[in-house]
Amino acid sequence: MSDETRPDATGAHRNEDPHGIDTRIVHVGRDPFANHGIVNPPVHHASTVLFPTLDALVKAAADPTRGVYYGRYGTPITHALEDAYAELAGGARGIALASGKTAILAMLTAFTGAGDHVVVLDNVYEPTRALADQFLGRYGVEVTYVDPMAGAGVADHFRPNTKLLMLEAPGSLTFEVADLPAMIAAAKAAGVRTALDNSWATPLYLKPLAMGVDVVMEAGTKYLVGHSDAMMGVLSATEEAFPALRRAASEIGAPPGPDDCYLALRGLRTLSVRMARHRETGLALARHLAGHDMVRQVLHPALPGCPGHEAFLRDFQGSSGLFAVELQPGSRDRIAAMVDHMALFKMGFSWGGYESLILPADPRRARTATRDRWTGRGPLLRIHAGLEDPADLIADLDAGLARYAAAADA
Ligand SMILES: *Cc1c(COP(=O)(O)O)cnc(C)c1O
Repeated sequence: MSDETRPDATGAHRNEDPHGIDTRIVHVGRDPFANHGIVNPPVHHASTVLFPTLDALVKAAADPTRGVYYGRYGTPITHALEDAYAELAGGARGIALASGKTAILAMLTAFTGAGDHVVVLDNVYEPTRALADQFLGRYGVEVTYVDPMAGAGVADHFRPNTKLLMLEAPGSLTFEVADLPAMIAAAKAAGVRTALDNSWATPLYLKPLAMGVDVVMEAGTKYLVGHSDAMMGVLSATEEAFPALRRAASEIGAPPGPDDCYLALRGLRTLSVRMARHRETGLALARHLAGHDMVRQVLHPALPGCPGHEAFLRDFQGSSGLFAVELQPGSRDRIAAMVDHMALFKMGFSWGGYESLILPADPRRARTATRDRWTGRGPLLRIHAGLEDPADLIADLDAGLARYAAAADA
C-alpha cells in the first residue's frame, strides 16, 4: 500500500464503515484492482528499497513507518495486515511483529523506563512474567503482581511511579476473568496506562480499546494465523498511545516475514467462522467434562463456577476454544496413562489451530500473588477444542479419563 492509500493515523475512516465485522473481515487490508484483480494481496520480499532522488529519500525518512522504506519497517503486505488488525481492534493504527512475545515486549517497554513501576495481573501468560521480571527488571523497572480478581482494589498496588497495568483475560491456564472495567477505571483515575493481551478472545469477542484500554495485542500465532504454521504478533492502540508504541516496536526491530504476514491475512478471512466452531465445540466439551466423575472443576469462563463468570457474560461477546479442567487428584503415571494414548488430542505448545490439543499444566510455576489458590489441587489439563467432530473429541476424552481412572497411582 502506498503513502496515499494507507489509512491515516486518525482512524476516523473506520467509524464511517457501516458494515458488520464479518463483512469487514472479508474486505479489510485488500485492494484486488490495484494488483491485476488478484483476490489476495501480493507478497514482496525486500530488505533494500530504492529511492530515485535525494528528495524522495529525505521524504521517506521523515516517517519510515508510513510508506515502504526499508524491509525492517515492513513491506506492503505487512502494512495490509497492520491496517486490518487496527480496523478490527478499533485502534488508530496497527503494528505487526515477529511473535506474540515480541508484541508484549513492545507494550511493556513503550511506556516504562528505569525507576518506573508496573502492575501485572498474576495470571498472565508465563513468558509475559519472564519479560517483566527479567527484561524490565534488569533495566530498573519494578514489577508487582496482583490477584486478577482484585477488581478496583488493583489501585491499592499503584505507586506514584506506576506507569503501566498489564492485563490479560481470561488468565493463562486458569481462565479467571478479571473485572476489566473496574481495573481500567482505577488505572485511568491514577494516570496509569493499560495494556491487554487479547489472544484468547480476539477482536471478535472482546473489544479492549472500546473499553478504555490504551494498547492491545494478540498472539497472531494462535487464532489469527489459525493453522499452526507461522509466528505472529499484532498490536493496536488509541491514537494518543500509538506513537510511543510505534517507537518501541521500531526500537525492537523484529518484523514478521512477508510470507507469514500473508498467512496471517489469509487466516483472518476465515477467523469468524473458525471462532464460531471453536466456541461451540469448546462449550460442548466443557459441559460434557463438567458432568464427568473424574473431573473436579471445569475452568471455562462461559460456565458458572469459573471465577469471573459474571464479568465474562457482561464484557465478552463469546468464548474461544481454550479452557482447562482440574481432574480428581491422581499421580503423574495416571496423567501419562491418559495423555500418552489419546487418539485425536495431541500434546504441544501453542493453540488456535484447527487441531485439538491437550496439555498438562501447573499454574503454580507462574504465580506469586495467587500461588496458594493452586496448591493442593488435582492435576490441570489445558484443552484446545479444534475443528474436528465434537462427538469424536468427547469420545477421545472419555476414553482418556477412563484410562486415568483405571491406572494405578504410583
Ligand atoms: C502464545 C501466547 C503469546 C505469545 O505468542 P507467541 O507468538 O508464541 O510469541 C502471548 N500471549 C498469550 C496469551 C499466548 O497464549
